[in-house]
Amino acid sequence: MTEPVEMWWARRQWSKGAEVPYPIGHYRRDWERYPVLVRQYHPDLNSGITLTQVPPAAEVYLLWQCDSGHRFVATPEEQRQRPGQSRRRSTWCPECAAGATRRAAPTPARSLSPMRPRAVRVAQRTAPSRSAVGEAFHSALAPKPASAAEGDLRHRLTQRLAVDFGFNAVRVARPFFTRYEVWPDIVIDELRVAIEYDTTGRDGLEHVGRREESDRRKDRLLRASGWEVIRIRCGKLRAIGPWDIEAGGVSTKTVDRLIDRLGEIRGELIVTSYRVH
Ligand SMILES: [Zn+2]
Repeated sequence: MTEPVEMWWARRQWSKGAEVPYPIGHYRRDWERYPVLVRQYHPDLNSGITLTQVPPAAEVYLLWQCDSGHRFVATPEEQRQRPGQSRRRSTWCPECAAGATRRAAPTPARSLSPMRPRAVRVAQRTAPSRSAVGEAFHSALAPKPASAAEGDLRHRLTQRLAVDFGFNAVRVARPFFTRYEVWPDIVIDELRVAIEYDTTGRDGLEHVGRREESDRRKDRLLRASGWEVIRIRCGKLRAIGPWDIEAGGVSTKTVDRLIDRLGEIRGELIVTSYRVH
């Protein structure tokens, strides 16, 4: 069964028991013979997964973009079979191919969002009715932002990254407390990174002792779903994960470090493509 890219990736993570089921470069030799497809493929349109991580026979819907800017969904196999139908260059894109046969007056490309092309989400176009493991969504159950600092952090991020900040939950494979969802403070679906803003609270009770253990469990569930977690750890809280940032609070410097972290996790090129200029 052909699946959307997020579901396909999450399933491979599960079946292979690895966070990165196919390392970058693994299928390079299978794809380098198709330079047009290499050019049509953009990791930022496909959850950050590179083409060299996609087996040529994978039953997965990928989002492609031709040189003229047309976007279309096709499996690896469909794309590799296209030249069999015609020798024309337009054959690599269904919309260009249709235009070439029609010989019609040039129609403006039906652009999805010319100003913010990379903000288009594959998941919205192909999402199943029930959310899958690793899928971000809006949960009515999630608590409202707890502190002014957290709101400040979110606001600063909206000024730096053109991503959708409308999500507040991620579907996970096993229950966290009683539900198959977790509620990070900030959810960046485009990069599959959750950001938590941790302080010990007025009474010094938050994120310590047993609560730290539940934080760690939450992070493990997210990672098992293909996500990464960055915790901004304030006050005397020490880092508990590989990407955590120990900080005094929300500042420009904190946000800079956070953006750097995103680049370390998902690659500078991908993160730069979401930068607000
Ligand atoms: Zn085209």
